Amino acid sequence: MAVSDHVNLKKFVAGVKRRNPGETEFHQAVFEVASNVFEYISDKEIYHQTQILRRIAEPDRIIIFRVCWEDDNGNIRVNRGYRVQNNNAIGPYKGGIRFHPSVNLSILKFLAFEQTFKNSLTGLPMGGGKGGADFNPKGKSDNEVMRFCQSFMTELHRHIGADIDVPAGDIGVGAREIGFLFGQYKRLSNRFTGVLTGKGMEFGGSPIRTEATGYGTVYMMEDMLKHRGENMDGRVCLVSGAGNVATYAVEKLNQLGAKVVTMSDSSGFIYDKDGIDAEKLAYIIDLKTNRREGLSEYAAEYKVDFFAGERPWRIPCNLAFPCATQNEISANEALLLINNGCIGVSEGANMPTDQDGIEHFIAAKLLFAPSKAANAGGVAISGLEMSQNSARITWKEAELQNLLREIMANIHEQCVTYGQQPGSDYINYVKGANIAGFIKVADAMVAYGVV
Ligand code: NDP
Repeated sequence: MAVSDHVNLKKFVAGVKRRNPGETEFHQAVFEVASNVFEYISDKEIYHQTQILRRIAEPDRIIIFRVCWEDDNGNIRVNRGYRVQNNNAIGPYKGGIRFHPSVNLSILKFLAFEQTFKNSLTGLPMGGGKGGADFNPKGKSDNEVMRFCQSFMTELHRHIGADIDVPAGDIGVGAREIGFLFGQYKRLSNRFTGVLTGKGMEFGGSPIRTEATGYGTVYMMEDMLKHRGENMDGRVCLVSGAGNVATYAVEKLNQLGAKVVTMSDSSGFIYDKDGIDAEKLAYIIDLKTNRREGLSEYAAEYKVDFFAGERPWRIPCNLAFPCATQNEISANEALLLINNGCIGVSEGANMPTDQDGIEHFIAAKLLFAPSKAANAGGVAISGLEMSQNSARITWKEAELQNLLREIMANIHEQCVTYGQQPGSDYINYVKGANIAGFIKVADAMVAYGVV
């Protein structure tokens, strides 16, 4: 990068920090994109003149609201709900809803910002948004979760719509919550439209939406290996998380002949040297989605080690798939992975590796797929759920499986095109994804003029 670009980048990042004090996750996400985009646009005056990156880093609007609900003991509880509508240059706002006690404005702004580039990479007409609440569904009864979802949607319904903003699930928001949210939207608006994705198959859902994020994360790794003339067969893999993304990543890894030896949740991780096969995975899905218990039960059932309060990255492996949450791989853990023989990381969760960790991976020339590329399969199938809802039809599963595979291959290709390091055969997928995701949104914004 030229010296003047460095100076401009520093000024830009200082401005983002000044305008968004204390929002560390948002600063981290903007810096990661800006460092690549500044280099790319250094000789492209139009993007400077029109201040495109500055505009993408300022959400179109943010809605913050009180969510009041009554628990099973008759107590009135109060939470805070949010929707960040980041950018709709290339389509309606689109992005998940997260229910977790850690939810705050910084986390949702980083997620909505990232989503803008990710959705662009899919090639589908979707803008970027994200929402959620600091509500913890853990330990709540189904009725409490239902009352919370109804209250949340009572405000949110004014701000969303099939052509305006189409939320989906994320951490803490699965099939049960989407059902309650959609039911309340329909009741308030008297409309049956594709206003949420990840819906049940009985009411407008799409085949393979549930599997798509995890499968896509593994396809991305498969394509990176293929690009180097290698494959997945027999690879020892670490997976973190035990939710939607993690479980379907494990399913696909098993199908492709890899061996998954860890999974984790907020209580710790399991290390199963023999591999988490299809039968054991079915046990985990039941444990997490029906019984809603911690992974120590798996350790007791299959007599394997459980490490309370720890993350799995110190276990030797060939490939790693962080699928739990943001900043779950620190710089030290990135070094541990590299030193223990890991050759590839594909991010199922959003921004699971911190900035120094990413720099270690790139310096060591790992195959490293950043989340905005690696986990875009979920939102891609959500985009196709929107198309099916508009046409009032359901496509066949095989057709969607092929489309998902094609979309992930296309994202890989875009990363290769824009991420090739000059004078080397190393592909910097972070740079590739950031630039490819930026171009389409930026060109649409230039076409609209100053709005
Ligand atoms: P789920 O709620 O289904 O699962 C999340 C998993 O991560 C759970 O096992 C949870 O543990 C664990 N977890 C959550 N927070 C922490 C934490 N602070 N420390 C350790 N473990 C934690 O969510 P998803 O699988 O849907 O989402 C996982 C990640 O993937 C998120 O980053 C999300 O933004 C991203 N993502 C999801 C998409 C989707 O389609 N669902 C699409 C694209 C990205 P526990 O079971 O104990 O709660």
